[in-house]
Amino acid sequence: MKQPVFNFSPGPAVLPHAVLEQAQAELLDWQGSGMSVMEMSHRGKEFMSIAAQAEADLRTLMAIPNNYKVLFLQGGAHSQFAMIPMNLARSKQQADYLDTGDWSLKAIEEGKRYLDINVIASSADSHYSTIPPFATWQRNPTAAYLHYTSNETIRGVEFDWIPEVENVPLVVDMSSDILARPIDVSRFGLIYAGAQKNIGPAGLTLVIVREDLLGQVLDGTPSMFNYQIYAETESMYNTPPTYAWYLSGLVFQWLLKQGGLEAMAKLNQRKAEKLYAVIDAGDFYNNPVDPDCRSWMNVPFTLANASLEKRFLDEAAQAGLVTLKGHRLVGGMRASIYNAMPEEGVDALIAFMREFEAKNG
Ligand SMILES: *Cc1c(COP(=O)(O)O)cnc(C)c1O
Repeated sequence: MKQPVFNFSPGPAVLPHAVLEQAQAELLDWQGSGMSVMEMSHRGKEFMSIAAQAEADLRTLMAIPNNYKVLFLQGGAHSQFAMIPMNLARSKQQADYLDTGDWSLKAIEEGKRYLDINVIASSADSHYSTIPPFATWQRNPTAAYLHYTSNETIRGVEFDWIPEVENVPLVVDMSSDILARPIDVSRFGLIYAGAQKNIGPAGLTLVIVREDLLGQVLDGTPSMFNYQIYAETESMYNTPPTYAWYLSGLVFQWLLKQGGLEAMAKLNQRKAEKLYAVIDAGDFYNNPVDPDCRSWMNVPFTLANASLEKRFLDEAAQAGLVTLKGHRLVGGMRASIYNAMPEEGVDALIAFMREFEAKNG
């Protein structure tokens, strides 16, 4: 069965078709249990095996070292904006944050409720079209941690490098580019990501955290916001989002079958580069982001003639290319091309863009 449309939604986003087919086949009866995964006790042996396999596969995919805990949480990246200062302040008063866009700013605003936030650098002056050079970051060597956003989902700015910070734990919001390429987990104190962009369905939030950072929460931290409690209960302090956990596990297996993150990185780079090439080929389309930090995951673009936008979106949808409208903060278009977007989807978008330009240029 072919995909009915190519869905370029920023999130919740496209899932691998093969994964959805497997979930469908197992929907009413998971592996002879007679139950749907949705109906199972999270403490029963069936679900416990699903949960353990998902964690094992994620550890393989990302080569997660043994001194890191993998937590399967709820509450989205937004909860992490608060959980991080609550858990990682560790008697310090201050944390460093880099400002590269709308998601960085949200993390900064929430962080301010708990700590003094030192904004070490900002690309606001360039309308968030670049990453401030590392040499300009005004870091505090005794900060509780340094927080940054590896992929700004709205404006399409992505790091292809990891900041070199010593003695200060590095904390990263990878909500929209986790699993897009191999990364060295040991460089980080904490990695977090909402599942609904590049992992699985909405409702699950992943946290990968170095063990030695746990156990010193701010006074008054709710149990539900305490990483240590999840670490001690295998993320089953309360009822976890079981179906989203299961489906994410199927995605991990699918990624392993594709050849893991090395293979995904090659594919993601190829998909992104050919799309940027069409945008850059003339004046009809435009992407304002510095070529050094253009995202492989979210490709925003505008039309030189903005009055054609509605026609572009309507005709694209008729051609089966849906959810291409840009974020309300920036307008224009945005193609989100996560791991699960097949290369044929990008090729179909490129063909449409060329044809639309030929007719309207
Ligand atoms: C989508 C997104 C968020 C917000 O995620 P929620 O799960 O809705 O809280 C935060 N950061 C980044 C980079 C995102 O893309």
